[in-house]
Amino acid sequence: MLDPEVEARDPARQFRLDDASFRKQAAYLLDRSPFYRDKLAGAGFATAEAVGGLDAIEALPLTEKQEIRASTTAGNPIGAHLAVPRDQLVRIYSTSGTTGTPSYIPLTADDLDNWVAASARSYSASGIRAGETVVSTYNAGPFVAGAALGVFDRLGLCHVPVGTGNTERLVAAIGLLKPEAAVMTPSYASYLIEWAAERGFDLKNSSVKRLLVAGEPGGGEPALRARLEAGWGAKVTEAMGIGDIGISLWGECEEQAGMHLGARGFVHAELIDPDTGEALAMKDGARGELVLTHLRHQAAPLLRFRTRDHVEVWTSPCACGRTSPRLRCIGRTDDMLILRGVNVFPSAIREVVGAFAPAVSGAILVKPATDSVKQEPPLPVAVELAKGVAADMALADRIGERLRAALVFQASVELVPFGTLARSEYKSKLVRR
Ligand SMILES: [Zn+2]
Repeated sequence: MLDPEVEARDPARQFRLDDASFRKQAAYLLDRSPFYRDKLAGAGFATAEAVGGLDAIEALPLTEKQEIRASTTAGNPIGAHLAVPRDQLVRIYSTSGTTGTPSYIPLTADDLDNWVAASARSYSASGIRAGETVVSTYNAGPFVAGAALGVFDRLGLCHVPVGTGNTERLVAAIGLLKPEAAVMTPSYASYLIEWAAERGFDLKNSSVKRLLVAGEPGGGEPALRARLEAGWGAKVTEAMGIGDIGISLWGECEEQAGMHLGARGFVHAELIDPDTGEALAMKDGARGELVLTHLRHQAAPLLRFRTRDHVEVWTSPCACGRTSPRLRCIGRTDDMLILRGVNVFPSAIREVVGAFAPAVSGAILVKPATDSVKQEPPLPVAVELAKGVAADMALADRIGERLRAALVFQASVELVPFGTLARSEYKSKLVRR
């Protein structure tokens, strides 16, 4: 462990420390954050005494990304949650956003340092060690992923940044510089297996023994993970951040049993029912939407922020000795479809379909008939066949039956030839309307 005192700390003791941090953070919000001063007062929590401690956090209002966005003005393009003067900021990241207007994520020097400290624990859980070489494929630019690059220095790694969009350069770096580890999205890792096979590059026997995937769900899906591990001849672990809260907050250890909270002490995690907003107990196998609260943030701290990530959590001890909770991302609220009252995530469809390898390539595309979240069955799903496999109705029927049994919805499965569905060097789009 990079930081055993924190990572192996007794959870009850951690809760007491987090409670003290939370009380300070809440007082700070009431003092410094116009957004939260108004929001908390409006909900009947005008003082730090009224807010109370971490054991009463469930009573506080949730924060939606949209509220923050709506609080921006020409004079304050960051938002009313900005809690420090602009001259205290050392970095302002943007989120890519889908609406055209970027939203900004400001950091003080301490915030940035805490981000790197937390993320260093998450990445180091994968087993990478000082002195090893890691090749990264982030085109970080304006995005928070840029802060993750500082983590590799912190860990004493030799970092070879190659970016996305130039696979020849990446493969040359792997072949010539012989890195022990590579960092990329699961989509790009998957694409590279096919790319290498077509060009006769022996990826499976390359120097890369650890493949660290992040940036989208998928690295924890058993079928996709098995394909990546076989194709790369490497152990796959995943990491996950939430732009507004921090980079690589969660990182998986070598036990591969879900991502540990690397940001322990910096961030408090909760689970809610996404439909009602009610808090759910954090216990083994619990599923819900992840809600995060900054505990020691300065620039623009967030309280009970709805991440729109649906996750499964585990709190039982991990064989690695880390005692923080673990999770796996099931999918994003924004990708979810509802069929006759059943929530369906495209990434879950991919996981079920992926189990039909080697008959299928693993690529799928969900094609809802309308723009609505609610869809009438059957839901059209294109499933790509593996190279050289011919379409056969019996296979389509078996996939449809398995989807109905596992995810409780009716699909109309269309088998398409290998190479039909788009590949991504960044993140895959699993839904096309
Ligand atoms: Zn572990």
